[in-house]
Amino acid sequence: MNVSALQADASLELDVAASPSRYRHHESGRNVNYYDTDDNLRRTLEAYLPEPVARWADEPLRELGARAGTELARRADVYDAAGPALVRYDKLGRDVSQVACHPDWLASLNEVLDFGLVGWNHDPARLARYGRAPYPLLAAFQYLVAQADMALCCPLVIAHGAVVVLERFAGPDLRDELLPAVVAASKAQRMQVAQVTTEITGGSDVGATRTVARADTAGRWRLTGEKWFASNIGADLIVTLARVDEGTPGTKGLGMFVVPRVRRDGSPNTVSIRRLKDKMGIIGVPTGELLFHGAEATLIGDPGQGFSYMGEMLNHTRFWNAVAAAGIMRRSLLEAATYTARRASFGTTVDHFPMMRERLIWLDADLTATLSLLMHTAAALEEAEADGAGDDRLRFRTLAPVVKYRSGEQNVDFARAAIELIGGNGYVATFGTPRLLRDAQINPIWEGTSNICALDLWRAITRQRGHEPVFDRCEQMVAALATRPARRVGEAALHAVRDAREVIAALARASRTRQEQQARRVADLVGDAVALTAMAAEADADVSRDSDHRKAVVAELFALRMNGGHTRRSAALDGFDGVPGLYPMLFGDAPLDAVGYRRALTALGR
Ligand SMILES: Cc1cc2nc3c(=O)[nH]c(=O)nc-3n(C[C@H](O)[C@H](O)[C@H](O)COP(=O)(O)OP(=O)(O)OC[C@H]3O[C@@H](n4cnc5c(N)ncnc54)[C@H](O)[C@@H]3O)c2cc1C
Repeated sequence: MNVSALQADASLELDVAASPSRYRHHESGRNVNYYDTDDNLRRTLEAYLPEPVARWADEPLRELGARAGTELARRADVYDAAGPALVRYDKLGRDVSQVACHPDWLASLNEVLDFGLVGWNHDPARLARYGRAPYPLLAAFQYLVAQADMALCCPLVIAHGAVVVLERFAGPDLRDELLPAVVAASKAQRMQVAQVTTEITGGSDVGATRTVARADTAGRWRLTGEKWFASNIGADLIVTLARVDEGTPGTKGLGMFVVPRVRRDGSPNTVSIRRLKDKMGIIGVPTGELLFHGAEATLIGDPGQGFSYMGEMLNHTRFWNAVAAAGIMRRSLLEAATYTARRASFGTTVDHFPMMRERLIWLDADLTATLSLLMHTAAALEEAEADGAGDDRLRFRTLAPVVKYRSGEQNVDFARAAIELIGGNGYVATFGTPRLLRDAQINPIWEGTSNICALDLWRAITRQRGHEPVFDRCEQMVAALATRPARRVGEAALHAVRDAREVIAALARASRTRQEQQARRVADLVGDAVALTAMAAEADADVSRDSDHRKAVVAELFALRMNGGHTRRSAALDGFDGVPGLYPMLFGDAPLDAVGYRRALTALGR
């Protein structure tokens, strides 16, 4: 056998035509346009964006989808292998505490910031050329970027949080000084932000904060202490918490501060980076330990209110974090779907096998549901910002921890599943999937662990009755459904809402221990009910617009698994019959019309 024959054998040219999947056209999740290949994202956005916005948004989404799927994704693999380095001292031994990042990281970060990922609605040029971007659209932008590299989202998420803090809690002087820099469209004017609360005493127990803030004789605040985790650590500004009143323990004695790395007179502030963390994933973004040696700081708002400001900020950063996690879910599905549609085994492509088809279909259903929940939450934020209505704010406040918890857990499952579905190659760095898994694992941890987010939801329920407007809106949405396929799903959503209401009412009478123990299960119930309602509304829009029934079928599947009530035994005996047969419809090129929809229901025995 000659060498070229050997090479041909090694690559085992795959029988692309054998698969019915539209993903067979792509070799992997690289060198694709993440927007063009995502029919669900496009159709979902149509349900959330006003028609004129949907029309102009297509162009920037396509532009960003192309960059993310090519250059941003390519660079991400490069800097993942290199990582940043700490330059603690200069040649004369002075503490400079700077971070040397890979040039590809800097290029990508500046590119997405220039694009307006944070500052779109503050950038006169973007506003003049396109218009204001509502939150569902901003979320879609970040969803595309996260598919290239979730680590890139870290500085974006933090900047979103800083915007909330500056707009809502800072006095006018501080706001006018810093906000334009945080949202700046040009690199020359831009300031980046780190948001740092975690100390060695714990990230969840913020009340254990030991960093102290003291006002000097001139009334300037100075911070002394250590922070154990700080991401985007080389940033120009650090938003942090410190104890303003050492006599007041816990969260009550905390103030929120902004600490500049360079003081107003141009001299370096007394902030050091002790070391960078040697992390499992999100290698591009530098994370390390920060030391404040009497660092000059500006108080944000009222002293003693730091924890409540942080709560509001976290609600937003949790939402943006969920968008990033959903990006990993989508990229994982893309990697699995492209590979399995082309990989030959036993004389066919592996996506022919019933178990493989069912696995891919459930991944698709779970991603669709989580994206619907995300967009519904983004729409709640949009409504809250537009009309300031308390109910919309409370809906956003209640849903943000739910979607953070859900996507954080799911993105790890998805990345793991992608590796498994690809097989041995999925375990190899050049296939990109090991990075997805390493990166995904941060999302159930930072910005509040999964447990902490579930407890935060329970707090929103018990202290503010946040579930009421959430469920009321679900019921209103179901009542407004116009098409039969959507109403079928709507019925299942109402069932889920009723279940969740009953569980919450029953748990409210239980012991505190029991409530805390069950908080994650409550988050699952709330997330499922809202996701299914949102899917019903989106399916309704699809069917009404152009008789596209794909989302209606995916929502049916989601409802089937959710409300099917199978035991392990009954699932093994007669569960989910017909699901693999839907693969050509759900993963195929052709739209799914009313006839296909009826065929799908028949296949499912519905
Ligand atoms: C790569 C990386 C980057 C980070 N970047 C930043 C950053 O930029 N800024 C920042 O401030 N922090 C950052 N963090 C820290 C992160 O936010 C914390 O790790 C996280 O909040 C959890 O805190 P902890 O690690 O101290 O765990 P702990 O708070 O000690 O929690 C340990 C475990 O106990 C559980 N737990 C705690 N309390 C409860 C409870 N009441 N009920 C049930 N379970 C509970 C937690 O869920 C967790 O499983 C980063 C962390 C990492 C790994």
